[in-house]
Amino acid sequence: MSTILERYQELHPRSAALHAQAAASFPDGVTHDIRYFKPFPIYVDHAAGARKWDVDGNEMIDYVMGHGALLLGHAHPALVNAVTEQIRRGSHYGGCSELEVEWAGWIRRLVPSAEVVRFTSSGTEATMMAVRLARAFTNRNKLVRFAHNFHGWNDSVTGLTSPEESVPWSPGVPDSFLGQQIVVPQHGREELARVLADDPDVAAVIIEPTGAHASTIPIDVPFLSFLREETKRSGAVLIFDEVVTGFRVSPGGMQGFCGVLPDLTTLAKIVAGGLPGAAVTGRSDILAGIEFRADAEWNLRRRISHPGTFNANPLSAAAGIAALSTIADGKPQKQADALAKRLCQGVNQLLRQMDIKGCAYTVSSMFHMVLGVGCPPPIDGHAWEWHGKPGPEVPETSGPVVTAFRQGMINRGADFMRTGGMMSAVHTERDIDETLVALEATLSDMQREGVL
Ligand code: PMP
Repeated sequence: MSTILERYQELHPRSAALHAQAAASFPDGVTHDIRYFKPFPIYVDHAAGARKWDVDGNEMIDYVMGHGALLLGHAHPALVNAVTEQIRRGSHYGGCSELEVEWAGWIRRLVPSAEVVRFTSSGTEATMMAVRLARAFTNRNKLVRFAHNFHGWNDSVTGLTSPEESVPWSPGVPDSFLGQQIVVPQHGREELARVLADDPDVAAVIIEPTGAHASTIPIDVPFLSFLREETKRSGAVLIFDEVVTGFRVSPGGMQGFCGVLPDLTTLAKIVAGGLPGAAVTGRSDILAGIEFRADAEWNLRRRISHPGTFNANPLSAAAGIAALSTIADGKPQKQADALAKRLCQGVNQLLRQMDIKGCAYTVSSMFHMVLGVGCPPPIDGHAWEWHGKPGPEVPETSGPVVTAFRQGMINRGADFMRTGGMMSAVHTERDIDETLVALEATLSDMQREGVL
């Protein structure tokens, strides 16, 4: 009988060959850190709905879902029609279009704190712009981040991942940038209050509002109200990074769900319906830092310059309008949430039955599994009701377990992001049931191989 790894290699010869070729073109043969996978990643040929097919003809239920961009699944007809129609009319006008006005209109209608909008091409650009806007508005320099929260890879947000660490997560960022970042623990009320009271140079505080890494470490919601009050008091700009949570947790994102309104919000992924596109939105007085004025000195020296070839490009705008108008009533989100919950309930049941340590929990339609280490099962599979204290106490699944789990699940027809994923509105109960059957078999393979 083959091992999980042997089976993975047997099932994917064409992916292996492509990866060998890719190694000549890309460092590590990949184009995104989380696509780096041993012994080689799967090469996808096409996708539809909740499924994708690799170049060897294997079919998989997809829980990566465009890194969270595809709340409506792959190749949703509304998106396909909008983009097909638009590309016939041109993909770049080197100018303004009616589409960008309509796209921004959807954002302003749906996101409670959205007064005005500025489009960028990626979430990384959006967080870079939000921090720059905050610095220019407050005339201060420092940025407070929370441990393990991720905001893309621009220099402003790349530093220590937690206060306990002494080495930043990426080299290549000048010390002068690192010195402008202060990292405090997620839920560190005292630390946050102290920093804001003691350091008058804090321009902004940025947070993933459902908690670090797309809610892998779920937020304690009252902490957001505390954060709002503290930033109001200190005059620091509060930035919600809703790149993942925007339009997913509710049509108005996490802020629409919890009612705590930031000064600025960064959006990407769902906002552009699966095409590249992102935005900064929020207070008009802060975004006014980009405005030209009847003041030459302002325009030359004090205004924030913001070009960007693909800002609000017509294709992304058309996809964004199609996506936002489809999800505006909140039904797709509810559907995805319910399916994520069903999956996690099934996982928790399986873990109990098979006597495997671990748990599964959801925050909206984002779901996470801890495997091979004990953790308190969240009540009802829902993280807002997480038993344990939300925080860095959430145990981490070990590297070898993640690798065996992913290889094993791919072998049996489901693709995850490490041990979690993103549910879409087009997954079905059948998909979940099939996934649970595959999971039971994979977990038992892992037990047999001594990984679990
Ligand atoms: N912020 C968060 C919370 C993210 O998860 C990501 C990407 N996953 C980013 C920012 C960066 O977005 P992008 O990949 O579009 O640059």
